[in-house]
Amino acid sequence: MDKIRDLIIIGAGPAGLSASIYASRYGIKHSVLGSVLGGQISETHEIDNYPGMENMTGFDFSQKWGNHVRKYGVEIVSTAVDSIMKKNELFILALANGETMKSRAILLATGTKRRKLAIAGEKHLLGMGVSYCATCDGFFYKNKIVGVIGGGDSAASAALYLSNLCQKVYLIYRGPELKAEPYWTQKIKNSDNVEIILNTNVVEILGEEKLQKVELDREYSKSCGLKLDGLFIEAGSEPNIEYASGINLKTNEKGYIEINKDCTTSVMGAWAAGDITDGSDGFQQVITAAAEGAIAVRSIFRWLKK
Ligand SMILES: Cc1cc2nc3c(=O)[nH]c(=O)nc-3n(C[C@H](O)[C@H](O)[C@H](O)COP(=O)(O)OP(=O)(O)OC[C@H]3O[C@@H](n4cnc5c(N)ncnc54)[C@H](O)[C@@H]3O)c2cc1C
Repeated sequence: MDKIRDLIIIGAGPAGLSASIYASRYGIKHSVLGSVLGGQISETHEIDNYPGMENMTGFDFSQKWGNHVRKYGVEIVSTAVDSIMKKNELFILALANGETMKSRAILLATGTKRRKLAIAGEKHLLGMGVSYCATCDGFFYKNKIVGVIGGGDSAASAALYLSNLCQKVYLIYRGPELKAEPYWTQKIKNSDNVEIILNTNVVEILGEEKLQKVELDREYSKSCGLKLDGLFIEAGSEPNIEYASGINLKTNEKGYIEINKDCTTSVMGAWAAGDITDGSDGFQQVITAAAEGAIAVRSIFRWLKK
C-alpha cells in the first residue's frame, strides 16, 4: 500500500523551501517536490534585497536554501506534479516521473511562469534568437545587440545583466515609464549601453533560421523595424496552476489562488504560498514568498495536530 504523508510541498522555490525548513522544525514529516531548485531565483543573476544576503547570484542563493532544507534530512525530489485529485480526505498526486503520492495536507508553492506575447514569430524563433531567460541564454549574445521586452523588475534586471555582456541593449516597454523598482531604473539610466524605448509594442518578430529584426508599432529611427541578434521576453507572468485543476481551488480574476491570512485556500487540507497566491498585496518577492511559506506551515501544523 502507498505510504500516506502528512504534508507534501509542491514547489522548490522560496515559498516551498522556506515552508520545508519550518515544517522540519515543527516536526512535520513531509516531502518537497519541485522541478527547479530555487524556482525563479535560480534564473536571476543577482539578489540584493534579501536581508543579510548581499550581492548573491541567484544560483548561489538557490543552492544555500537547498542545503538548508537538506540539513534537516529532507530530500527535494526533482519532478513535476502532473495532476492532483482529492479522494476520501486524501490528496493523490500523479508525478511526471510516473509515481503517485498521497498526503493529508498539501502546500501549493509553484509560483509563476513567463507570459507569452502571442505575436507572430515568437514561437517559431524560440531558441533561435528569442528567449524567456536572460541569465540562461544571455551568454550566447556576447558583444551582440539584443532587445528586452517589459518594464517591470524582471525586465530591468535582465536588461542590466545583458548590458554587462552585450554591445547594446534596447529595453522596449509599452507604458509611458518603467514600473521597476527605482533602484533598477536608476541603474539602467546610468548604464551607457541600455536604451529605453517607451510607449512601444513589438508586434512581430522576423527571421527564418534566426532572429533578424522586430517590428514596432511606432516609428523608431525613421523605421518601424529594429535589427536584433537576441530578444528576451519579460512581459509579466501568470500562475503555475494547471496541474491543480482537479481540486477546484478558488482563484481571483487573474487566476491566482485566493488565500486567507493563514494561507488556507477554499479546499480543506490545501494551503498555498508565494507568487501563486493573491496574498502579500500582490508583492511578488523572495521575502514575501518565504514569509507565506512559513505562515502556511504554522497553520498546517495546528490543523494536523487536531
Ligand atoms: C528575473 C527575475 C528577477 C527577480 N529578482 C528578484 C529580486 O532581486 N528580489 C526578489 O525578492 N525577488 C525577485 N524576483 C521575484 C522572485 O524570484 C519570486 O517572487 C520568487 O521566486 C517567488 O517564489 P515562489 O516560491 O512563490 O515561486 P517560484 O520561485 O516561481 O518557484 C516555484 C517552484 O515550483 C516549481 N514548480 C512549478 N510547477 C510545478 C509542478 N507542476 N510540479 C512541481 N513543481 C513545480 C518550480 O520548479 C519551482 O521550484 C525575480 C524574479 C525574476 C523572474
